Amino acid sequence: METAAVTEVRTRFAPSPTGFLHIGGGRTALFAWAFARRYKGKFILRIEDTDVERSTPEAVEAILDGMKWLGLDHDEGPFFQMQRMDRYKQSIQFMLTAGTAYYCYTTSEELDAMREAQRAANEKPRYDGRWRPERGKPLPAIPAGQSPVVRFRNPESGIVAWNDKVKGRIEISNEELDDFIIARADGTPTYNFCVCVDDWDMRITHVIRGDDHVNNTPRQINVLKALGADLPVYAHVSMILGDDGQKLSKRHGAVSVMQYPADGYLRDAVVNYLARLGWSHDDDEIFTMAQFCEWFDLDHITPSAAQFNTEKLKWLNHDYIKRKSGAELGHMLQPFLINANLDLSHKPDVAKVAELLKERCATLVEMAEAAHYFYHRPATNQELLAQYLTESAKPALAELKSALKATNWAKADIGAVVKAQVAKHGLKMPQIMMPLRVLLTGQTQTPAIDAIMETLGLDETLARFHV
Ligand code: GLU
Repeated sequence: METAAVTEVRTRFAPSPTGFLHIGGGRTALFAWAFARRYKGKFILRIEDTDVERSTPEAVEAILDGMKWLGLDHDEGPFFQMQRMDRYKQSIQFMLTAGTAYYCYTTSEELDAMREAQRAANEKPRYDGRWRPERGKPLPAIPAGQSPVVRFRNPESGIVAWNDKVKGRIEISNEELDDFIIARADGTPTYNFCVCVDDWDMRITHVIRGDDHVNNTPRQINVLKALGADLPVYAHVSMILGDDGQKLSKRHGAVSVMQYPADGYLRDAVVNYLARLGWSHDDDEIFTMAQFCEWFDLDHITPSAAQFNTEKLKWLNHDYIKRKSGAELGHMLQPFLINANLDLSHKPDVAKVAELLKERCATLVEMAEAAHYFYHRPATNQELLAQYLTESAKPALAELKSALKATNWAKADIGAVVKAQVAKHGLKMPQIMMPLRVLLTGQTQTPAIDAIMETLGLDETLARFHV
């Protein structure tokens, strides 16, 4: 880490509570969290709720739920900006006194006229500094009865530069930046200002955030300097795009973090996927949260936009599913079965069903669909039956039915009985297997038929076995 002077790494996640936790926000939070964990530092949660029109308590809950599901525990906070108003106002006073901020009485009509004139002169629209105190410069007379805004006195010359840990060195000339408003006429501080005071007060050492904030950084650096604060390291993480290269939206699938558990994705798989989305550790694709915390660094975040690939996430999810035990999966699968109104009371053990299905189902939702016939006797699919139940197979199936009754009800024994009937009647395996599948499950694509029978149990198997 380049900041040798830093004794404790402190990162933060600073969502605005205007909706659910977006998958992109979840990834930003994951990176900030993992960085703090790697260096045994602190991860701070700050709720940026100053947009009172759009911020809601439900959104705060939704963000907390999303973070909890992802396993991103915070060490400090949540701090709410709306509860820190006094502190911001105090800082504004400090800056007014220090001369790094000043009152501005320009009206919105004047601002409009200013912009229009600049546009007409082919200049970039910007505040012209008419209330900015300068030595020897007369200021306009203060209009009676008008509340001023407070503007930051941005340095006039020189550059603002930082070594972004993701994007490399970024430099902006101060001439590009006008004196932005840090407090509105009603005294409320503006967003860019609050962020500075917070990052300073919360002693944030590394600001890891979305690159939609790159344009705010030069202003924030200037304010931090004016406040006398140490500058954090900045790492601006690129956006996540859909697989068509467009901004990730509902069109591409789920964008809310909490949609993933609802769609049957496993937490560890989603976290693993997000970790690899724009960051890499050699060729490692599958790793645990603990490994991620051990490996995560800012140097291996890719500066280019990451593309969200639902197929890859599914593949990863399936891998995680396959590595879980039937008992673990059964536990996770159960709510999905209950949700599908299936009665689990006297029917096969969910753990056993999950074990049987895990090779073929990439999500718990798929698994719940595939598990349906274990809990609900399927109607006879006459069409499939006509297709697969040949005349030559009928006597073999009838004999099989009675032979099964005498079987020790275990997969190997069931399998042996089936094979014996196939041999006895001079048939090929599929001639028996396929009609059996159709009878027992109503479909043709299933796990091994002896395993299905074992799981269904003798009584239920026989009840479905009407030849
Ligand atoms: N509140 C901002 C957002 O949700 C984040 C600001 C920051 O990380 O500095 O996009």
